[in-house]
Amino acid sequence: MEERRVTISRAKMSVDYPASFMLVAAMNPCPCGYYNHPTIECTCAPGAVRKYMNKVSGPLLDRIDLHIEVTPVPFKNLATMKAGENSQTIRERVIAARKIQEERFRGCPGIHCNAQMNSRLFRQHCVLDAECQERMKLAMEKLGLSARAYDRILKVARTIADLDVSPAITVEHLSEAINYRSLDRDTWGR
Ligand SMILES: [Zn+2]
Repeated sequence: MEERRVTISRAKMSVDYPASFMLVAAMNPCPCGYYNHPTIECTCAPGAVRKYMNKVSGPLLDRIDLHIEVTPVPFKNLATMKAGENSQTIRERVIAARKIQEERFRGCPGIHCNAQMNSRLFRQHCVLDAECQERMKLAMEKLGLSARAYDRILKVARTIADLDVSPAITVEHLSEAINYRSLDRDTWGR
């Protein structure tokens, strides 16, 4: 997944293919399906939610940048829901952020977006001020995040800042990126 290549090995040879893809996956929050539900109580036995989540290995979960919890929308909200931003507006924002990244990685062959930053580029473009460093330290301690999750959060924060056309990562960008780690093992199911 990280190298964006797939190697197929047979007895006499092995072949390397490019495999750049976006992984999108969905799962239930727990065996009964109601963990964190706003109105229905989860009936899972103590420890069952953690056990269920542990079926997804930590290293795999670490490599998934955005964890989004989708809670049901009550009917009255569905009926009265105001129109949100349309896709065209969002598309324009994404194109603008992609342009910023194109500029940023001009002269870095094979690197087109923040997710692909190597450690040198990472240190150069994911600089945190004192307030952000403090916020990150707290999150690491509270959520028990791995070093890999730390890198991912900063890269996602960099992208949120780009969508906001902000040259610096602010504490708001960072906090949003941290919120996308809801499945990190130390918090889910406790
Ligand atoms: Zn449950």
